[in-house]
Amino acid sequence: MDKNDELYKAGLLLHGHKCPAMPMGLRAGLAALEALGVPRAADGQLIALIEIDSEHCATCYADGIQMATGCTFGKGNIRKLGYGKFVLTLVEVKTGRSVRVATRNEVIKRNQESEFILYRKQGIPASKIDLALVEPNIDFILDAATEDLFKIGPVTEIKLPAGRPHDFNTIICAACGEVAVERYARVKNGQIVCMPCAEKN
Ligand SMILES: [Zn+2]
Ligand SMILES: [Zn+2]
Repeated sequence: MDKNDELYKAGLLLHGHKCPAMPMGLRAGLAALEALGVPRAADGQLIALIEIDSEHCATCYADGIQMATGCTFGKGNIRKLGYGKFVLTLVEVKTGRSVRVATRNEVIKRNQESEFILYRKQGIPASKIDLALVEPNIDFILDAATEDLFKIGPVTEIKLPAGRPHDFNTIICAACGEVAVERYARVKNGQIVCMPCAEKN
């Protein structure tokens, strides 16, 4: 992938700093789309299941996946499985066809051993680290052959739990006056309120 690639540039804009994990997510997402033979999800056509959790290395991976696959936090078609692993399973909702794209151990190890990570371990934010240290890691991820970065599993069918239709009904909280989706409304002292107001004493 070229650094002038629209997806890379948009990924950087979304993500905010230069690091190897965001591009790793871009490459994983693109590899999964290619394996399934499907385009980026304009709506909820795809679901991304990612095995990362929170507060650990390389979670930036998820932003690359959002960017490449169109499975986003806002659309709600991306889920973290919380295993602390750098694996993406992309599912085509209509057919249940899925592919599992696992980042190769050597790729993770290469990043772990980079100077960039030494600084990150000292608690230095990625945006404050000399770009000369991070660019070679990014170049490696962008330029490597897909099969050198990932183990790509066979396309298999999986069963997704049935989704629910979207709610469009809203209420206005009697206590704070803010709008909330009706399903989240509570009754407190005979008044319809939002969840935070219901929990207040
Ligand atoms: Zn990052
Ligand atoms: Zn309220």
